[in-house]
Amino acid sequence: MKISVIGTGYVGTVSAACFAELGHEVVCVDVDRSKIDQINAGIPPIYEDGLPELLRKHAGKRLSATPDYDFAVVNSDVSFICVGTPSDSHGNIDLGIVKAASSSLGDSLRKKKDYHVIVVKSTVVPETTEKVVMPMIEKRSGKHTGEFGIAMNPEFLREGKAVHDFMHPDKIVVGSLDKRSGDIVASLYSGLNCEVTRTNPRTAEMIKYANNAFLATKISYANEVGNICKQLGIDTYEVMSAVGKDFRIGKHFLNAGAGFGGSCFPKDVKALIGKAQEIGYEPLLLKSVIAVNERQPGRMVLLLKNRLGDLRGKKIAVLGLAFKNDTDDIRESRSIPVIKELLDNGASVFAYDPMANENMRKLFGGIQYSGSAEDALRGADACLVMTEWEEFKMLDKEFEVMRNRLIIDGRHMLTPRKNIEYMGLCW
Ligand code: NAD
Repeated sequence: MKISVIGTGYVGTVSAACFAELGHEVVCVDVDRSKIDQINAGIPPIYEDGLPELLRKHAGKRLSATPDYDFAVVNSDVSFICVGTPSDSHGNIDLGIVKAASSSLGDSLRKKKDYHVIVVKSTVVPETTEKVVMPMIEKRSGKHTGEFGIAMNPEFLREGKAVHDFMHPDKIVVGSLDKRSGDIVASLYSGLNCEVTRTNPRTAEMIKYANNAFLATKISYANEVGNICKQLGIDTYEVMSAVGKDFRIGKHFLNAGAGFGGSCFPKDVKALIGKAQEIGYEPLLLKSVIAVNERQPGRMVLLLKNRLGDLRGKKIAVLGLAFKNDTDDIRESRSIPVIKELLDNGASVFAYDPMANENMRKLFGGIQYSGSAEDALRGADACLVMTEWEEFKMLDKEFEVMRNRLIIDGRHMLTPRKNIEYMGLCW
């Protein structure tokens, strides 16, 4: 089938490349010219394992990019909206970009005679597809639903493993108001070995939020238990590895530490809180999930201050800037509040990340970025570990260049070593 993908960020580029791999013809649309040029040249605009190979294979053949909505809509049967849905200043969902993409799609649809399906893949709060996207497209295209199709197809991929997750999903959810559009969207995934869950759009929207909110809740729960364990001198990892053996709980997402970041969990939990409050429900549990998460980075700096005293003039190495390993994405990374607090306390920060130095430089221009962990550690009074990069596990002799060998591990990833004072955040 012919597909257009609107928005070539993490979700859009990965979906486009994977749909091409499944045999579909894909055209991407973005407002960012540089991303369009990169995709057409077969270069991924973001870092994702396996993506360079797919782009090299399909760009210029089954995969292309354009800024032209009309061209993309005329040359496809289905359009996926994959634009960002950030938080507004109150934490509620900001649908501005979804509305802009919907109105551009509606304008292009006005010029097309054939049936076309619009699919919302962006994470949007329940009712958005039916009450925001659909009316916008009807208004701008001058057509009624039925003349065009509408569906909601949430994305569950994990950054860093996005290509693998797209090709090996544990669930595919397609929400539609009518059978025809749902059947078309479901058929796009027929090359994958996964059952398609069919619902209405608002249920599909809610499944995505319920999924992310549950995972975030597990992490905050693990952090709450971890903070209590720390004060009692109990190893929370020993506790949780036993707790996770209960099949009703499961062993994943029970790792206490610096908390969750990224482009999804924090904003999605906050968006669900906002939606609940909009309809008059006070979501106490979800608010606590965010509150516990926001406290964790401060606890790292508190541990550091308890040990070093005044941080003014102290050199602190921060290892890991990306919100998690295997990505250059720093959105809502827990290293951001940590660096901010270190700077507020007068420390000088030497940071290193295998991939995210450049992204973080846009946020904190005034700190030192190092080309290796060893460079960041040289002469440091302490080291904070913020991201679970595999290469940090191998560090050994590199710590010898520190002035004071104190490590506070926010990710439970280093092994204690002789001559190093090693402290865990929650253990
Ligand atoms: P992103 O910010 O990386 O990419 C969005 C892209 O849309 C950008 O390239 C931007 O230039 C483009 N864009 C902006 N306005 C546009 C317009 N009017 N027309 C065309 N393109 C436009 O976002 P992302 O991380 O890919 O997330 C997209 C959606 O998917 C969000 O709703 C997010 O919550 C959801 N999601 C993300 C992930 C993830 O891991 N990143 C996982 C699942 C779901």
